[in-house]
Amino acid sequence: MLRFERGGTLNAQNQGAGLAHLRLGTARPLDFQRLRMGGNVGTDDLGPAGDEFRRRETLTGETAGQKPLRHIPQWTAKRSGLVHVKPLCQIDKAMTLAAPRVRKKARPAKVVQKTAARKKTVRKRAAAKPPAPREPAPRAATLLAWYARHRRHLPWRARPSEPADPYRVWLSEIMLQQTTVKAVGPYFERFLARWPRLQDLASAPLEDVLKLWAGLGYYARARNLHVCARAIVERHGGAFPDTEDTLRTLPGIGAYTAAAIAAIAFGRKATPVDGNIERVIARLHAIETPLPAAKPLIHAHAQALTPARHAGDFAQAMMDLGASLCSPKRPACALCPWNDACAAHRRGDAETFPRKTPKANGALRRGAAYVAVRADGAILARVRPPAGLLGGMMEVPTTDWTHDFDERDARAHAPFKAAWQRVPGVVRHVFTHFPLELTVYRARAAAGARPPKDARWIAGEDIAGEAFPNVMRKAIAHALGG
Ligand code: SF4
Repeated sequence: MLRFERGGTLNAQNQGAGLAHLRLGTARPLDFQRLRMGGNVGTDDLGPAGDEFRRRETLTGETAGQKPLRHIPQWTAKRSGLVHVKPLCQIDKAMTLAAPRVRKKARPAKVVQKTAARKKTVRKRAAAKPPAPREPAPRAATLLAWYARHRRHLPWRARPSEPADPYRVWLSEIMLQQTTVKAVGPYFERFLARWPRLQDLASAPLEDVLKLWAGLGYYARARNLHVCARAIVERHGGAFPDTEDTLRTLPGIGAYTAAAIAAIAFGRKATPVDGNIERVIARLHAIETPLPAAKPLIHAHAQALTPARHAGDFAQAMMDLGASLCSPKRPACALCPWNDACAAHRRGDAETFPRKTPKANGALRRGAAYVAVRADGAILARVRPPAGLLGGMMEVPTTDWTHDFDERDARAHAPFKAAWQRVPGVVRHVFTHFPLELTVYRARAAAGARPPKDARWIAGEDIAGEAFPNVMRKAIAHALGG
């Protein structure tokens, strides 16, 4: 049987506290070999064995449990604390008692909340960080070598040995937003021919800029282009700022455009990530998170790939890869310089990346458009409000475009009294966030008819040169039987 004795008086302060703080492991069942090795034993283990412990003096101000295990021998030698009694089991190693588990103090609610928030942030950061690559990592140098051989020749691009012109880079990047290279080409040439320098564009009337932009869509870009040109002249003396941060303070320049200009025009280590580049990165790493939630992770991967030198070429190489081999459908992986490092290619389902959250199409909106034709062929038009959809562009008078448009009320909204005739059929147009259906009404006006307030007559031969967006051109053509 085991017997415990205390040879001295326990200090009242340490009563219970000493043993309660013992933090030693237990050996179950009692293993004398382990004890011989200087192991530890718990109270439970000692119960059935015949052994004896004796405490020979009071533990004052210090407890066995607060001593790290490796210090126990010295401690017992000096202080004669808990000592295993030799004669009974021939073990002369120091032993201490393991107490019931120390209960932790309950932490205040504030601390718990803070810790939880900190853990959440750490988890979030970890999720945004690219995981350690398992396969051969894609290398920037490989893509740059491919780019040197296969780069696209575009009107706004500098030749390999020439420095890039920030004005051209900026103009092209604004025009290319949501628009194809093929569509942008002629617009870019026309803008550059008309306004060869930033200062020329800044001093042009907005109306002229909108006219030259007409047909390219997303007209807010044209207004911002003009405001931005003026801001660069006024705030920066006509020279483009060369850092991402300062570029972002300019009107119409967002994160992508700022990074593109900083990298391509100024060689800064910046990472523009557009839809094409998102697709390349999502495939390279087979990112399962759907867009748009995957954007931070994709950006982190793209940043990790961006080299410190030739960042501009690298950005353009990524753009070219996304626009050519790594196409949305049937990517040409066999020709891709990164095919050995591409996770989606290895899996054989590259085309399914990037994953996307299904988009709910906007509900159909409807309205009426009124095309008044003067005897000399001029049509009535007005300028749309500066802010909002197609802001500042030209339009024929229309009703609001709503989900509950009632055609029976359409004539009541016509811009002036006349014999308005409904033109058979409807004009359909799809904006990014909703489809539109316009019912078109046509009326004739006398040669000397005065235009209503805020509207004007536009001669037939000038219609093509006015800033009518495509939906309005469709409505006019529908009314004129074109
Ligand atoms: S291997 Fe195929 S899917 Fe992967 S980056 Fe190249 S073209 Fe895109």
